[in-house]
Amino acid sequence: MPEPVLQRAQSELLDWHGRGMSVMEMSHRGADFGSILEKTEADLRALLAMPANYRVLFLQGGGLAQNAAVPLNLLPADGVADYIDTGHWSLKSIAEARKYGQVNIAASSADADYTYIPPQSAWRISPDASYVHVTTNETIGGVEYFWIPETGDVPLVADASSHILSRPLDVSKFGVVYAGAQKNIGPAGLTVVIARDDLLGRARRECPSVLDYGVQAKAASMFNTPSTFAIYLAGLTFEWLAAQGGLAAIERANVAKASALYAEIDRGGLYRNPVRPSDRSRMNVPFFLTDERLNEPFLAGAAQRGLMQLKGHRAVGGMRASIYNAMPIEGVSALIDWMREFEREHG
Ligand SMILES: *Cc1c(COP(=O)(O)O)cnc(C)c1O
Repeated sequence: MPEPVLQRAQSELLDWHGRGMSVMEMSHRGADFGSILEKTEADLRALLAMPANYRVLFLQGGGLAQNAAVPLNLLPADGVADYIDTGHWSLKSIAEARKYGQVNIAASSADADYTYIPPQSAWRISPDASYVHVTTNETIGGVEYFWIPETGDVPLVADASSHILSRPLDVSKFGVVYAGAQKNIGPAGLTVVIARDDLLGRARRECPSVLDYGVQAKAASMFNTPSTFAIYLAGLTFEWLAAQGGLAAIERANVAKASALYAEIDRGGLYRNPVRPSDRSRMNVPFFLTDERLNEPFLAGAAQRGLMQLKGHRAVGGMRASIYNAMPIEGVSALIDWMREFEREHG
């Protein structure tokens, strides 16, 4: 979370705009929360320059609930859906979708340990796919799409949980974009779904109503009580992003942060990153020490310097620096300083 957002939330925590109550205490159907929801959506639309024929839904259940919601909304029981397998999170999406219908893995980078994004020329798309699903940033493997697949009339669906709002995104190229809030949007407990109008109202009978895009769009995300406080914090984050200069400006900051860190990793010292350079994530930077025995002392020294949560995911080991929008360049510089100091001691 950006620190100014937390400070603003703190200052308004007990008394929002002189109403004598916290946002947490407001009725979700009252005018005050209504104004918060409306502004939050408008600010998100403005940041993404979202076309008018897209609906924004503020849901719950995280990215993983969307792994079920996508087939339940878009895949007929006898249909087929294409998935691009780029690692941990796409495999989760695939496993969930298989509960609801036939899944075709149209491409996979498993052959190279998920260190690249398969180019579209290598995809084997089903002629009658109901949609094509991509994970546009693989949070654990650290691979990111810097191009948008062309799927013609077949809706393109993206799990953008870990890089949404890190740079401009041409929403018009997608049928559905979904993201759990907890990386670049706000606290956990909120899921943002952006869905094209014509994809609403197609849900299967067994689709839970809370996950039904058509039902939730008609109810303005209030079929059930939405995560009001998380939506409010997301709104403050959108205001913060606009004040930074919007997504083009935050992209410049993210490029500066990521290039500094990858340059240090590639310098040829103690560290390495296995991902193809053109596909390297700007949000999640995994790196490995040349000697695994150095992992523990590296992490211990990092923690002493206030550099936290650097341990890589248990699935891949090593280190991982997650440098989301809210991480200032100073945080990345402090990590680079520590990497150099550690190398002088152990290199
Ligand atoms: C973090 C993350 C998720 C997590 O989903 P939750 O249900 O919100 O825990 C899903 N997909 C990606 C790509 C992620 O990075």
